[in-house]
Amino acid sequence: MSLIYNIGHLVGIQPSGVLRVQGAAQGQTGVLEHAWLSIEDGRIAAFGPMASCPKMAGQAGQDGSVMPDPDRASVDARGGMVMPGFCDSHTHVVYAGSRDGEFLDKINGLSYEEIAARGGGILNSADRLRQTPERGLYRQSLVRVKEMMKKGTVALEIKSGYGLSPEAELKMLRVIRRIRETVPAAVKSTFLGAHAVGRGYTHAEYVQMVIDLLPEAAPLADFVDVFCDDGFFTVEDTERILEAARGLLTPKIHANELAVSGGVQVGVRHGALSVDHLERTTDAEIEALKGSKTMPTMLPGSSFFLGLPYGRAKDYIQAGLGVALASDYNPGSSPSGDMRFVMAQGCIKMRLTPVEAFNAVTLNSAYAMGLSDRYGSITVGKKAALILTEPGWDLTRVAYQYQTPFIRKVYL
Ligand SMILES: [Zn+2]
Repeated sequence: MSLIYNIGHLVGIQPSGVLRVQGAAQGQTGVLEHAWLSIEDGRIAAFGPMASCPKMAGQAGQDGSVMPDPDRASVDARGGMVMPGFCDSHTHVVYAGSRDGEFLDKINGLSYEEIAARGGGILNSADRLRQTPERGLYRQSLVRVKEMMKKGTVALEIKSGYGLSPEAELKMLRVIRRIRETVPAAVKSTFLGAHAVGRGYTHAEYVQMVIDLLPEAAPLADFVDVFCDDGFFTVEDTERILEAARGLLTPKIHANELAVSGGVQVGVRHGALSVDHLERTTDAEIEALKGSKTMPTMLPGSSFFLGLPYGRAKDYIQAGLGVALASDYNPGSSPSGDMRFVMAQGCIKMRLTPVEAFNAVTLNSAYAMGLSDRYGSITVGKKAALILTEPGWDLTRVAYQYQTPFIRKVYL
């Protein structure tokens, strides 16, 4: 057993069985001041106020004082905060090379659509990925995942979608599987064959290729995703792919980034675990999500990078829904997996309270990966996937002083 004691704020306490928080509940979380937490077999075993802190075996007990034996894997938090690690439910972190040339195109004012029309964007990434050997792709991607873990991410989802041919899509899924087998963070895998139409296919041929690939992709993936948006895949394409994936893979949908696409409604109809992006939504999308099991997920990092509107997270929460936030880490529209920055943007740009933003990057984003029974809150029995901060931090300061290093240790 190991013990963390002298915790200033133990944040993110939830009763077991709470798999997501919605509406007013998104603005609440359990906090214990001056606390301890014990870990057994990698799971949260118990926690409580310092007055009840267990003495470690072998300690010569002094009545009233709590001084756990430093040799028994006990850690003095020195007043630091302990919170669940970040959960990042939407990334494209497996990719080859960088797209810094397009960064200059963007500075010079070209739009996402214009860059795509010039053969850039996703197709550019696909060309590079196909030329990169599987081993090199794994190595490059692993560096990014390690960087994310260092910044406090303990669970993440990774999508295919830069392959855009049967061989290259399966290569990506194998790389994701290898990352899952290598890193201590939880990794979920999504087959996003329908990210863009691959070179050499007509639109119709490409949709058929994705459908035909499903049986081979399914054993390597947890979810299926479609970029249901203006200029990419239509609601009808999405319907066909999700019909074919029924019983094989649960959907997560890219929707409403570039237009009010109908992607939210098609996702809800097919029982999607999440619908993601949502920069452009009307009240009809909010209505469609009510009473569903689908988690609306917003990606403020791509709004920031592309200059798109931010999602209406506050309106969703006021309508009684929950909201998750994720990084969208990818080379074209969000080259960062920093979930603390995502949380800060939730507060600064989307007017979420620090607790609402915190729940969006922990419990609700864990839900959006089907992991919230094991990750995303301080709950006995959940994985001890935690962030211990330097002394003096609380949730508000994490979002407010968003550039100051705050992590002392990430437990995985
Ligand atoms: Zn994405």
